[in-house]
Amino acid sequence: MAKDTRGLVIVISGPSGVGKGSVNKLLIDRCENLEVAISATTRKIRENEVDGRDYYFISKEEFEKKITDNDFVEYALVHGNMYGTLISEVNRRIEEGTNVILEIDVQGGRSVKNKFPKCVSIFILPPNMKELAVRLNGRATDDDETIKLRLDTAESEIKCVYDYDYAVVNENLNDCVSKIKNIIISEKSRVKRQDEIIKKLLNGGTIL
Ligand code: 5GP
Repeated sequence: MAKDTRGLVIVISGPSGVGKGSVNKLLIDRCENLEVAISATTRKIRENEVDGRDYYFISKEEFEKKITDNDFVEYALVHGNMYGTLISEVNRRIEEGTNVILEIDVQGGRSVKNKFPKCVSIFILPPNMKELAVRLNGRATDDDETIKLRLDTAESEIKCVYDYDYAVVNENLNDCVSKIKNIIISEKSRVKRQDEIIKKLLNGGTIL
């Protein structure tokens, strides 16, 4: 994907355990010019996570200061912890023409749609609820109470799928990633996203 227009903001949501993290990792490997915005959170770091790679793990006080300083595109309380998308992770990238993934919950998805009306939103669905429970239980990074809370929330999150532009089932990781890659490529080709280069062409300029 060439850096010919403003970067696309891509919202990716889905219930815990649906595989958003794995999908995003593969997408980054397979798509040119695509990056993930690292969110800030007050959640405790898991054993397999790295600060600054998976999240910016910060205290409640630091999070509140960032709210006061208007550092967030959006923030929300999710499963008892605060999560927020940092302006610094998004604006520079889209201005440079880099496409950016926001892996956020359904509340965040709503806020981002208001702030970036041209964003594209994708909801990842599990093949069935039993499989979601199996995946969450298999994680071994969360305790039983956390798993229960996440499963209880899953159904209400899935009902929000109707607010999204696309729904992709993650039964097979490769297929799911291919579908999302195709969505991104198609969305980049929309005429409304190529206004600038079309104007350039009509003014006698060269597009690429
Ligand atoms: P986890 O704790 O499993 O990494 O993430 C829990 C939930 O928080 C997921 O649904 C994830 O998409 C969401 N989340 C992660 N970062 C953000 C963010 O910056 N904003 C919002 N609103 N939700 C987020």
